Amino acid sequence: MNDVKNIDDVNLQGKRVFVRVDFNVPLDADGSVTDETRINAALPTIRKLHEQGAKIILASHLGRPKGQRVKSMSLAPVAPILSDKLSLPVLFLNDCIGSDVEEALQNLQDGQIVLLENLRFHKGETENDPTFAKSLAAHADAFVSDAFGTAHRAHASTYGVAELLPIKVSGYLIAKELEFLGQKTASPTRPFTVILGGAKVSDKIMVIDSLLDKADVIIIGGAMAYTFALANGKKVGESLSEPDKVELARSALTKAKEKGVRFLLPIDTLGTNALDFDAKTLGETQVFEGDIDDGWEGVDIGPKTTELYVKEVGEAKTVLWNGPMGVFEIPESSKGTFAIGKAVAEGDAISIIGGGDSVKAINQSGYSDQVTFMSTGGGASLEFLEGKSLPGVSVLDRR
Ligand code: AMP
Repeated sequence: MNDVKNIDDVNLQGKRVFVRVDFNVPLDADGSVTDETRINAALPTIRKLHEQGAKIILASHLGRPKGQRVKSMSLAPVAPILSDKLSLPVLFLNDCIGSDVEEALQNLQDGQIVLLENLRFHKGETENDPTFAKSLAAHADAFVSDAFGTAHRAHASTYGVAELLPIKVSGYLIAKELEFLGQKTASPTRPFTVILGGAKVSDKIMVIDSLLDKADVIIIGGAMAYTFALANGKKVGESLSEPDKVELARSALTKAKEKGVRFLLPIDTLGTNALDFDAKTLGETQVFEGDIDDGWEGVDIGPKTTELYVKEVGEAKTVLWNGPMGVFEIPESSKGTFAIGKAVAEGDAISIIGGGDSVKAINQSGYSDQVTFMSTGGGASLEFLEGKSLPGVSVLDRR
């Protein structure tokens, strides 16, 4: 995957470039953008293309309009923000295909920037409809892929259009994802420690399996740990677990032994006898070592585990973290997650946050500046870490 061409490998001067970005930004009821992270993330690629003198056609989805024009999911609010950040004009077109769009794009000047309306207003987008892909490709001479969050989907704008264009390369955002989730974990500076948490073993078992071939240490937290506890014959009370995945957990433990990977499970757990996720409260709490009593559920790693895991993270040279250590949305059961986040950020290791809730936790804790890399993908990051090839990446030109 590390041999994918990026925008530094080609000269796009004077070319019409279809750039698939991720402007799937949150909007409030008035249609104002409430978080500009994704717009900021696209700026380096757009700036570079502008400097090269490319004619830049930006395309994205926003929300799930399911093939209908839904006013509240228009990309129109993004154009002025983008223009402001770039200090350049950004022309917004109120569709992504059709004769008006064609006409506007015919007259594009070198360096000019256009933003198309939400691709998913057409159902051909998610269906990767060949006619829709062809209409998109008609706008352009080259394809730049920079929306990692949708790279695991073979949609018209992530895959179909690329197949039809002679030049297809990644932007800086995807290039970085490939570098950190790919190269830096495939041939890591050792020791390479992986911390995995979150709700379900079933969601992460493929990631665990793939990382068992690469890591020196795998640390498990979150509800996932209780399925491993069951595999080790422990009682987990009312904790969230997957009894039907115990065999999978057991085979991961066996593989770890065979590979000489140190596989760490919690040695203590914060339990509660009542959890109200909506009210963000816990009932009584108690720390359990070993078995968890009936009537109690584990909601965070305990203090001894936290200390042990923080120490392990401190000894690593490369750290990859995906998934919270507990129900971090509730302050009382967020300590383990935030302590791990702090250790990951403050350590000297190359630190990679593998997307999803861990990114949220790092942002909340204010340590994001100290992290080497945070993935912009959720599902895409997991599929990539599983070793799967992502359609939106495999379609790109190789060096
Ligand atoms: P995931 O999407 O698999 O990374 O899981 C994230 C979710 O797992 C978060 O919403 C956490 O609240 C939840 N989670 C983590 N640990 C626990 C736990 N011990 N019990 C219940 N939910 C948990």
